[in-house]
Amino acid sequence: MTLKPLVAYKVPFAMPDKLLYIETFGCQMNVNDSERIVTMLADLGYAPTGDPAFADMILLNTCSVRGGAEEKVYKRLANLRIYKRDGKSQIIGVGGCVAQQEGEELLKKFPYLDLVFGTHNLHLLPDMVRGAERGERRSETSFIDNDQRLDLFPSIKGQTRLSRFVTVMQGCDNYCSYCIVPFVRGREISRRSADILDEVRQLADEGVREVVLLGQNVNSYGLKSDNEPTFAELLRMVAEISGIERIRFTTSHPRDMSDELIACFSDIPKLCGQIHLPAQSGSDDVLKLMKRGYSRSSYLERVQKLKESRRDIAITGDIIVGFPGESDDDFEQTLSLLEEVRYIDLFSFIYSSRPGTKAAEFHEELTRAQKITRLDRLMELQKRITREICQTYLGSIQKVMVEGVGKRPAQVSGKADNGRIVNFSGDSGLIGSFVDVRITQAYQNSFLGEQI
Ligand code: SF4
Repeated sequence: MTLKPLVAYKVPFAMPDKLLYIETFGCQMNVNDSERIVTMLADLGYAPTGDPAFADMILLNTCSVRGGAEEKVYKRLANLRIYKRDGKSQIIGVGGCVAQQEGEELLKKFPYLDLVFGTHNLHLLPDMVRGAERGERRSETSFIDNDQRLDLFPSIKGQTRLSRFVTVMQGCDNYCSYCIVPFVRGREISRRSADILDEVRQLADEGVREVVLLGQNVNSYGLKSDNEPTFAELLRMVAEISGIERIRFTTSHPRDMSDELIACFSDIPKLCGQIHLPAQSGSDDVLKLMKRGYSRSSYLERVQKLKESRRDIAITGDIIVGFPGESDDDFEQTLSLLEEVRYIDLFSFIYSSRPGTKAAEFHEELTRAQKITRLDRLMELQKRITREICQTYLGSIQKVMVEGVGKRPAQVSGKADNGRIVNFSGDSGLIGSFVDVRITQAYQNSFLGEQI
């Protein structure tokens, strides 16, 4: 998934004398890192711009989770050459997972590139940028010890929005056989709960009303530390912070979805009724090959408990289609999993081999065309399920956190508790408030409603 360039920031701190254009690829972790970068570089006088042609510095924050995403980054990098203006020291840099993976090689491949910074090196960026302003080219991609990393979470300031990400952990120790994340993001680390709670309190003071707790596998937060709470305990602590009205979290690993965490959905009213629980496959044989650490039945048992804990919980998931060894029967089992879980939305992908992972050694039998056929069937089925679920909301009253103007004139837009976008007629003065809205139309990706 390619995300739009991040342009919606207020100009923070001192008067800017330079402009920064940053383009973010991939997941919410990268979006969150880009927000940190904007904060850090504001201290050096850089303010965000949405137009690379006017920028004094262009940064790409990259993703390598699938081959297609990586190719997009290379294409974009090749295009950036046109922005390197003669006689003007425009800086071009690459961060994130592709930077981590390729390091110094990127500087060799793209002679107009100035900076390469890996996933553990954000804190070095201000120093690297100062060097680049003097004409130095530099690559930093070393992994850092977890002890040191705990002190190196740059904070995000000066970007007033109602909803904000808060990183609670980073990295992953799971080594699912297809996944590049442990190689490019490093070992799992949980932030200190005291730092997380301080950050959330500060956000609440700045007017943030919703926090999304973020990590590659938030469920395993604190499990490897004697001094930190479990993720369920952390949720309860965050819920105590006044001013914060809504809490969401992502991403969850089904294996680490404890009963204690599931109980939070019935006990914590501030915790929104939405969960992203990637299954990846509905077949036990494929799940084993993927090294996911759970079975179809244990996944379904977690789903059932979640539905018991919060009756109307909206579940989203990820499915990989065409994993090496996935038979027709395996695929049929994945389709039937969709029917059983009834995801409100699904992110589905064709398997993409990533160099260095275990699955890259597996023999692939399916042709590209066969994989596309499977993906089409899966998406068709999901479309129907989404439509059926969304229809059940017609006439219901949803509490909407109004976050901005809608696409149509005199319309505002926000999120329901289940995470769906709701548009309704209203004045922009409603932005920032919670409004009860009756749902009148249910579309594939959003609802239309009327204020009651
Ligand atoms: S849990 Fe598996 S899929 Fe998720 S980040 Fe870790 S290794 Fe990748």
